[in-house]
Order: sequence, then C-alpha cells, then structure tokens
Amino acid sequence: MAQGGPVLAVDIGGTKMAAGVAEPGGRLITWNQIPTMRDVDAEGLWRNLENLLFEVLDAGNVADPAELSGIGCGCGGPMEWPAGEVSPLNIAAWRRFPLRARLAEEFGTGGDPVRVHNDAICMAAGEHWRDAGRGKKNVLGIVVSTGVGGGLILDDHLIDGASGNAGHIGHVVVYPEGPPCKCGGRGCLEAIARGPALAEWAQSHGWRPDQPGVTAKDLSADAMQGHGIAREALRRAGLALGIAIASATSLCDLEVVAIGGGLSQAGALLFEPLEEALSIHARLDFTRKVSVVPAALGQHAGLVGAAAMISAGERYWAVD
Ligand SMILES: [Zn+2]
Repeated sequence: MAQGGPVLAVDIGGTKMAAGVAEPGGRLITWNQIPTMRDVDAEGLWRNLENLLFEVLDAGNVADPAELSGIGCGCGGPMEWPAGEVSPLNIAAWRRFPLRARLAEEFGTGGDPVRVHNDAICMAAGEHWRDAGRGKKNVLGIVVSTGVGGGLILDDHLIDGASGNAGHIGHVVVYPEGPPCKCGGRGCLEAIARGPALAEWAQSHGWRPDQPGVTAKDLSADAMQGHGIAREALRRAGLALGIAIASATSLCDLEVVAIGGGLSQAGALLFEPLEEALSIHARLDFTRKVSVVPAALGQHAGLVGAAAMISAGERYWAVD
C-alpha cells in the first residue's frame, strides 16, 4: 500500500474511455483517451482499456502498480454499486461486467483501494473537490449530455443513497404531461434536456428537417449563429433545468449547482432561460441564493473525481 502515492484514474463512457495518473492533490500528471469501440465483445473492450491503462501508467512514470495509492474509476450507469458490476446503457458489450474486480485483479496490489462509481457522480465529486464548488459544502453537479445525470454533495460529503444513485436529477419530473422518458416515466428532465431529445425536438419543428445524424452539438452551433428553432430548443432545455434545479435546491438546501457535459458549452443560450425559470420557481430566501455555474474542469472532471474517491476517500467514498 502506497499511501500518498499517485492514483490511477479512469473514466469510461459510451463515446470515449479516458485514463490518467493523478497526484494525491488531484492534479493530473498525464492523461489520454481512446474511442469506446462498438464492434467488440466484453473481453475485446476490456483489452482496449487495459492497453490504455498500461500506456498511461508508463507515461506517468509509474513502473509498478505498487507505487499507486489506489484506482478510482467512473463508468456510465447503471451498475451494481459498490460491487462495480457495470451494465452501461451506452456500452452494449458490457452487461454485468465485473469492472471493479477486473481492475483490482490486473492493476491492484492487494491492499490498495479500487473504487468504481457512476460517471456523473465522479464529475460532481471532481468539481466539488477541485473547482466549481470549492469552498462550498452543498453542491449538486449535473451532466447534460446523451443523458442527464448528477451527483450530490451535502455537508462536504458525497451522498450515495441506498443504491449509489442519489443525485440522479435526470429523472426528476419537470412537466408531468411531457414526453415519455426512456425510464418508462413521463416528463423527466432527461426526456426534455438530453442532447438527442433536443435535436429531435428541433428537427420536428423544422430545424435541418431532412438531415439524419444531426446532434446537439450541431444544434448549439446553429443556435449561436442565431437560428431561431435551435435557440428555442436550448431555451426549452434551460427552462427544464431551471425547474429541476429549483426543486432540488428546495429539497437539499444547495449552495452551488455546477453544470457540465457538452450542452453546458452553449453558454447564455442555456443559462439565461435557466435563470429565468429559477427566478420563477425558487422564491424562498434560501433557494434564491443558489448559484448555478458552468462546470470548471471540463472533460477532466470525471478523472479528477475518480481520483477523489481514493485521495479524498473520507469525503467521496463511504463504503468498502
Ligand atoms: Zn425518466
């Protein structure tokens, strides 16, 4: 056990797999990422990840995993937590894949902790530990991307809930009569604000109507060029986020909400309607004070949060 040694940090999503070596304070010494292969089986994908990890350890001058103080890993959900058996919605090759056990087997040294948590929760932990929420004890981190996820920090500690899903704001209902959600419900924040839902909504209202494969990124780009329907789609997402954040703030007495993921880069086009909804729905003295900010760590937040589960485990990892 190399307490105070560097941490191997891993962040696995449907589009890319990233890994880095982090100093105990959270600074990334080195990092790299590869696309998440689609046409491979469970072992093929694991081998890709393995190669990435060997390469990153090498680049970070970690000759022997025994020098590590542990391994932290964020992965798309759902998962059996804390066992770290993952079945990510966007990674078809892995169903009940024993990610935590495999990491421990291949890169662990027996005594060092190996910890796997939801990727949105790692992002929230990273933001709280290193940046956007710094100095604040009550923070919700939200990732708006292909899905909408989140992680909740109260009284300076990550809240897990009964199954590791606390903070999953994507399935908070914002419009009871709204569109159906993949979860089987209706009108969830995710059903409205997830990138693909926005692109779909905009297309059905006349934005690039006949183009297949357009994404929320194209939508944001067009909105910035002043395209009316694209702007309306972002406004729709912003309002839904504002409503959900008002409710979450009232429930949890939040100080800061940090919003990351691709859509957060749309800037004022997303944040102005968000603030507008917040000003309508957050009216109590304590809810009015919440500050909503773009996530500050960008694409590194997941890796930094994965490292936090090891280097600041007393705050970000409650079980073992
Ligand atoms: Zn839902």
